[in-house]
Amino acid sequence: MTLVRLWPVRLCNTPPPLAERSTPRPTRTARRLHAAISDPSPRCSRTPPRIELTRRCATHRDSGSLPARSEGGFAMREQFRNHQTQTTCWDHPKMAELYQSLADLNNVRFSAYRTAMKLRRLQKALCLDLLSMPMVCEVFDQHSLKQNEQLLDISQLITCLTSLYQRLEQSHSNLVNVPLCVDMCLNWLLNVYDTGRTGKIRTLSFKTGIISLCKAHLEDKYRFLFRQVASATGFCDQRRLGLLLHDSIQIPRQLGEVASFGGSNIEPSVRSCFQFANNKPELEAAVFLDWMRLEPQSMVWLPVLHRVAAAETAKHQAKCNICKECPIIGFRYRSLKHFNYDICQSCFFSGRVAKGHKMQYPMVEYCTPTTSGEDVRDFAKVLKNKFRTKRYFAKHPRMGYLPVQTILEGDNMET
Ligand SMILES: [Zn+2]
Repeated sequence: MTLVRLWPVRLCNTPPPLAERSTPRPTRTARRLHAAISDPSPRCSRTPPRIELTRRCATHRDSGSLPARSEGGFAMREQFRNHQTQTTCWDHPKMAELYQSLADLNNVRFSAYRTAMKLRRLQKALCLDLLSMPMVCEVFDQHSLKQNEQLLDISQLITCLTSLYQRLEQSHSNLVNVPLCVDMCLNWLLNVYDTGRTGKIRTLSFKTGIISLCKAHLEDKYRFLFRQVASATGFCDQRRLGLLLHDSIQIPRQLGEVASFGGSNIEPSVRSCFQFANNKPELEAAVFLDWMRLEPQSMVWLPVLHRVAAAETAKHQAKCNICKECPIIGFRYRSLKHFNYDICQSCFFSGRVAKGHKMQYPMVEYCTPTTSGEDVRDFAKVLKNKFRTKRYFAKHPRMGYLPVQTILEGDNMET
């Protein structure tokens, strides 16, 4: 495969946006890529599982086992041409490889988890899981990224990303290959925010992308993002909130997952947030944070990403009732209907159930080992649920996120 650098030559064929399903004649590479990252078939689980989510431990932790990152020193920026197959694609070869590798996550049947696991892999490949928020903020300041509506061109993006990764290299020299990281991160940002390939993205988009995937507490991310769209006095109106949610939803959209998060129309989410704020014309950070804590459908992929990260190293003193894994590694799902009934993450994600257990039965998810207080609380819940019927649970469904009224595109979370 020979690669030539075509940027900044004016390009005549626009790239297929990865998330859209009907693009006129994409190249073979693009088709393959698209097939690899988008969901091959709509999943149908008519009986969504009832999960209560434990809200603690929502910060990233380094897993310690990071994939090999250092290879090659590509200088290519934009379009890559494969001379053997005469195809052109917009992805760095390493990026194309990464997108293809995400296909194996398509067997995760719950979209929020599927998306979050894809994002986790992407985050690690781009080394953004190592990047702390103070470091990011310093670099944003250093490059005077204040005007969030201003456009950044490719060279500005490269300059900022280079500063970011050079800082990161100082603390993680064995993990960070600066030129490769810059190329891949730029590649990702353009795929997410510059589908028309104008060579420019908004400062707000750049910040949203980096902050969403950096290493920080979840609520610190929310606060940071809110500040970007709030006025000097700390208030945000509907239009500005819309900008923020729009830029956020582009992240799952690029993975072909947007339908599960209420579609790319962010209006219902904006409405939901302002209704939550009693229809005041402007809202403040505290109200926005309270709303985000309800995990609105359009944003639920972000807290789930944090839980996926936290669960990576979790070890639970429990045995999976289906595959008998013991201890359970990763997420643990405990039944709130039966005593001593636990399921491991791979059984849960693939939708396996043991005899006598129904998907409608309530479960609680843990991404870290349970405390004795939680054990007692769950015990009490099982006592209460023990004699309730399947019909009761079907009639009283509870969801782990705040559903947002959607039009057209909207789809159920459990697809
Ligand atoms: Zn299992």
